[in-house]
Amino acid sequence: MFLNHFEYFAPQAAKDALDLCDRLGAKAKILAGGTDLLNLMKDKLLKPEYLIDINNVDEFKGIFYEPGKGAVIGAATKISEIERSEIIREKYFALHQAAGELGSVQVRNMATIGGNICNASPAAETPTPLVALGAKVVISSLSGDREMPLEEFILGNGETALAEGEILTKFLLPEPISGSVSRYGYIGLRDAMEIDAVNLAVNLALGEDGRIIKQLKLVMGSVFPRPLVSEEAPEILIGKEFSAELAEEAARAASSESKPISDIRASAEYRREIVAVLSRRLLQEAFSAAQGEV
Ligand SMILES: Cc1cc2nc3c(=O)[nH]c(=O)nc-3n(C[C@H](O)[C@H](O)[C@H](O)COP(=O)(O)OP(=O)(O)OC[C@H]3O[C@@H](n4cnc5c(N)ncnc54)[C@H](O)[C@@H]3O)c2cc1C
Repeated sequence: MFLNHFEYFAPQAAKDALDLCDRLGAKAKILAGGTDLLNLMKDKLLKPEYLIDINNVDEFKGIFYEPGKGAVIGAATKISEIERSEIIREKYFALHQAAGELGSVQVRNMATIGGNICNASPAAETPTPLVALGAKVVISSLSGDREMPLEEFILGNGETALAEGEILTKFLLPEPISGSVSRYGYIGLRDAMEIDAVNLAVNLALGEDGRIIKQLKLVMGSVFPRPLVSEEAPEILIGKEFSAELAEEAARAASSESKPISDIRASAEYRREIVAVLSRRLLQEAFSAAQGEV
């Protein structure tokens, strides 16, 4: 359980963090909450020579909202701050729900949203709602910033689009369109910090009549190496009046698009069934809540 010997840096400014990242390259790891990284180091799966702790860099932290534009969330923002944020609860409910389900109070007080995304676990809590909400990431280096949709950033299990010398610094969440509602749900084998067998998020918007679906994104987690966006569910539901039968059809379609594996937490067959159950449940919940919005 002993960690390898490493040199520790705690920069105070973004420029210094980026400078260290550039200079130390692949021998360094970013330390955010440490709730994934330190476990990997204790298990000797990672032996970085340098740790760059970004917790003191104010530019990487906080939640900022501008009406009409959307929200900016710093990558080093703690999951507990996201869970407690009034603006996240009001505008980006699926992310609020997912934040509240991640680990325990102690884990949420340490863990960051950037760490949850950069760790790129297929079963992680926040990627599915963030993708459903249309989040983009900002990746920074000494040569400047680049932006990309989150669904392009996560490449696979433990793999991201981050290059050497880069830090994930921000998430950009667009202003939700009028009449839209998002919901998140998961199923694990027990309710004790269990890793999700499947998680799922939907972001649904109704037209002004309060019945026709004008926008839908349904994203599945833990059934593919990265968040899986359903192509068929929107085709079935957009432009139609919501009904339990159509929701069932969309749920079955999402289930057949999923590509889960069998492992110690669940069989592939069970996971496909959960996708259908969660899809149906969250579509119905989101529809009912959206009717209250229009
Ligand atoms: C008991 C326990 C329960 C847990 N339960 C859950 C759960 O229910 N759901 C869930 O999703 N996760 C869970 N986790 C996993 C973990 O807590 C989360 O993934 C957490 O969000 C990781 O964030 P962190 O800030 O601690 O990341 P760290 O451990 O600090 O970093 C994780 C990885 O991301 C890199 N990194 C971090 N931030 C950046 C950045 N800004 N730019 C570039 N690279 C970066 C690090 O170098 C490292 O490789 C649990 C962990 C524990 C110990």
